Amino acid sequence: GADRKPRLRFAPSPTGFQHIGGFRTALFSWLYARHTGGQFILRIEDTDTARTVEGAVEDLLKGMAWLGLDIDEGPVIGGAYGPYYQVQRKALYQQYASQLIETGHAYRCYCTPERLDQMRKEQEAKKLPPRYDRRCRYLTPEERAANEAAGIPWTVRFAMPLEGETVVHDQLHDDMVFKNADLDDMIILKGNGLAPYHLAHLVDDHLMGITHVIRGEDWIPSAPRHIQIYKALGWEPPLMYHVPNILGKDKKKLSKRRNAPSWSDFQREGYLPEAVFNFLALVGWSYDDKTELFTRDEL
Ligand code: GLU
Repeated sequence: GADRKPRLRFAPSPTGFQHIGGFRTALFSWLYARHTGGQFILRIEDTDTARTVEGAVEDLLKGMAWLGLDIDEGPVIGGAYGPYYQVQRKALYQQYASQLIETGHAYRCYCTPERLDQMRKEQEAKKLPPRYDRRCRYLTPEERAANEAAGIPWTVRFAMPLEGETVVHDQLHDDMVFKNADLDDMIILKGNGLAPYHLAHLVDDHLMGITHVIRGEDWIPSAPRHIQIYKALGWEPPLMYHVPNILGKDKKKLSKRRNAPSWSDFQREGYLPEAVFNFLALVGWSYDDKTELFTRDEL
């Protein structure tokens, strides 16, 4: 809450080289922490191991150093703070997934990839949003025991409320209301024992004492699902700020997979880090319609 010193994080997934839009969100968090005398940490969200791109973390760290986005906490490597890595925190997410099962907020899903694929195809054909049909939510204890005895691989899914509404309080968008019937029973622990983003980031934000989450608007549809997990764990969600994404020339959101510029493109073209810092801070809004340059301290 508001009584605590602000703690913010940048939490990139190393699924590609971080584009300049990601650095902008990092910069907002960093500025907020510096402005309020709070703390800023870096967390590498690398639980999607199949999509991890080699060299992405190194590039990110270089980019942050180039822009002067220093961090205030983390494992010390070579005399400086380094990032937290989620793969090293795997056991924690498993612990909370088990707790959610014990409290009736989650369940083991034994559906095969083939069945899930088939379901997805049928939904696609009917133009329905992809959603798990909750079969395993309603297994009898006997069916469950039989699946366990047969050693069928499982994932863990969160049991979303079937009725009612979820309100997401956002500091920029005010209250956003979502119908619970639209929330999917999403996977919170994969068959390989790793937690996807939805559970992992939330456990970490809580355990790391994060007070303010600044992230792209593209995460808004996920926010009501996160609120439900917070409720189930009995935790207070941090203050949320969903900020507009920078768009490319094609008016589409910058994406690691498409061709988005990175910090090193700016460096190669001879821009000074101060100029890129200033550009990132001001793209998408204006202070007074004329001031175009701010120093780091002014910002
Ligand atoms: N790992 C997520 C990403 O790369 C972080 C989103 C967030 O800040 O919660 O977009």
